[in-house]
Amino acid sequence: MTDPQEVRRIGIMGGTFDPIHNGHLVCAEEARMQFHLDEVLFVPSGQPWHKRGVSPAEDRYLLTMIATASNCDFSVSRIDIDRGGPTYTVDTLRAFRAFYGKTTELFFITGTDAVAEILTWKDPEEVLDEAHFIAANRPSYSLSEEHRRLFRDRVSVMEIPALAISSTDIRQRVAEGRTIRYLLPREVREFIEQRGLYRKP
Ligand code: NAP
Repeated sequence: MTDPQEVRRIGIMGGTFDPIHNGHLVCAEEARMQFHLDEVLFVPSGQPWHKRGVSPAEDRYLLTMIATASNCDFSVSRIDIDRGGPTYTVDTLRAFRAFYGKTTELFFITGTDAVAEILTWKDPEEVLDEAHFIAANRPSYSLSEEHRRLFRDRVSVMEIPALAISSTDIRQRVAEGRTIRYLLPREVREFIEQRGLYRKP
C-alpha cells in the first residue's frame, strides 16, 4: 500500500508544442530520470498570450497525445486548454497544487529561454515558490550569471543535445516542403500531413 505521507514528484512539461518533437520527448525522459520523477505530465498551452498565429489548441493537444502514447510514464493534461483565456503558469501551478495537495513536489520543465523570462510572467514569486524549475538547455544557449544568481536553488539547468531540434524550424521546413522525418515521431509527422498543418496557404 502507498504511504499517504510519501512525497510524490510530478514533472509538468509546459509548452506550446506547435508541434511537439523528439527534443521535447528526450527532455521529458531525461528530466524524469535525473530528478527521480514519478511521472511527467505534458501540458499544452491553451492560448499563449505572447504568441500570434499558433495552431488550434485541439490539434496541439492531439499531437501531444499521439507523441506520448507509447510511454506509460507520460500523460497529457488539458488543464490549460480547458481553463480558457490566456495561459498563465501561475494558474496552472495553482490548479495542480489544489489537485495534488502539499505532499507532492512539482517540477516545471521548459526551455531555458522561457525560464529566462519568468520575471516578466504573472506572479513570478508565486510561480517560483510553487515549483522547482528544470530549464532544458539548447547547446548554444545558457542562463546568464545574473539569472542563475536570481533564481538560486529554484532552477536547475539540464543540458539536452537533442534540443537543437526546434518547433519553429519544423514549421518552416513544412512550409518550404523540406523533410521533417526523424525530427519527431512518425505518427506525429503523419498527423501533420493529414491535417495539412504548417503548409503555406
Ligand atoms: P517558447 O517561448 O515557445 O519556448 C521557449 C523555448 O523553450 C523554445 O526554444 C522552445 O523550443 C523551448 N521549449 C518550450 N517548451 C519546452 C519544453 N517543455 N521542453 C523543452 N524545451 C521547451 O515557450 P512556450 O512553449 O510558449 O512556453 C513554455 C511554457 O512557459 C509554457 O508552459 C507556457 O505556458 C509558459 N509561459 C508562461 C508565461 C506566463 O505565465 N506569463 C509566459 C510565457 C510562457 P520549441 O519551440 O522547440 O518548443
